[in-house]
Amino acid sequence: MSDTCLFCRIAAGEIPATVVHETGTTLAFRDIGPKAPVHVLVIPKAHHANVGELAEADPALAGAVLAAAGAVAKAEGLTGDGYRIIFNTGPHSGQEVDHAHAHVLGGAPLGPMLCQ
Ligand code: 5GP
Ligand code: ZN
Repeated sequence: MSDTCLFCRIAAGEIPATVVHETGTTLAFRDIGPKAPVHVLVIPKAHHANVGELAEADPALAGAVLAAAGAVAKAEGLTGDGYRIIFNTGPHSGQEVDHAHAHVLGGAPLGPMLCQ
């Protein structure tokens, strides 16, 4: 837990969020600025700066985040038409919050993978 990390503070219940899924080690909540009809963030409750560091430090927890992302997609009704999971990692990706998180996006066609 980092006192200065936004997602640590959400995981600790210090900052409110619309939680849609929770396990002992993961939390999923709606993105405050949705980029698609469904836009949910899935985080490990433990602090890891990005998905690469998470996977290296705790592969089981990385798997738990993916499993939670899949469960969210199912609960949000996305499995039929499909969805996208994004882990922004580092400056070139535009990562804004340095606590590993999966974006689960869906509910409409999502367009090309990258802006041209
Ligand atoms: P990143 O750019 O780091 O991959 O994504 C960070 C995401 O966190 C952004 O999509 C942004 O809208 C979302 N976000 C930033 N602050 C908050 C907040 O206080 N609450 C919630 N629910 N989402 C946030
Ligand atoms: Zn954190």
